[in-house]
Amino acid sequence: MAETAYDPGNIFAKILRGEIPSHRVYEDDAVVAFMDVMPQGPGHTLVLPKAPSRNLLDADPATLGPLFAIVQKVALAVKKAFDADGVTIIQFNEPASGQTVYHLHVHVIPRFDGIPLKPHTGQMERPEVLVENAGKIRTALSN
Ligand code: 5GP
Repeated sequence: MAETAYDPGNIFAKILRGEIPSHRVYEDDAVVAFMDVMPQGPGHTLVLPKAPSRNLLDADPATLGPLFAIVQKVALAVKKAFDADGVTIIQFNEPASGQTVYHLHVHVIPRFDGIPLKPHTGQMERPEVLVENAGKIRTALSN
C-alpha cells in the first residue's frame, strides 16, 4: 500500500497548535500529554511527540526516545494517581490496527485487577471528570 502523507488538519495537530482545547497534564519541548476524551478507563492519557508523523511507521526514530521516556513518566504518574494495579500501553498504526487519529500517540491506561477496558473510542467522558483526573495526574507528576 502507498504511504499516506501526514495531514496537519488532524485533531491532535489542532490540539498541539492550541486551536482546540485539551486537558493537558504534561508538556516539554518535544512531547505533550493530555486526557483522552473517550477514556477506556479512569485516567486514560495520550502521549504525543510534537514532531508530525502519522504514526510509529513514519516517525523519525530520534523522536521515539524522548516520547517513550515521557510514556514511562506518565505511566508511573497514572499508576500512583489512581492507585492502579497495572498500566496498559497501546499504540495503533493505520486503520487496520484501529488507529483513528493520524498523529502519532501512545495510550497510557491505568488498570485494576479484574476490570476490563471499556471500548476504544466509546463514550465521551464528562468534562468535570477529565478536569479532576487531569489534576490528579499533574499532582502525581509533580511529586
Ligand atoms: P487511536 O485509535 O487513533 O489510537 O485513538 C485516538 C484516541 O483519541 C481515541 O482514544 C479517542 O478517544 C481520542 N480522541 C479522539 N478525539 C479526541 C479529541 O478531540 N480530544 C482528545 N483529547 N482525545 C480524542
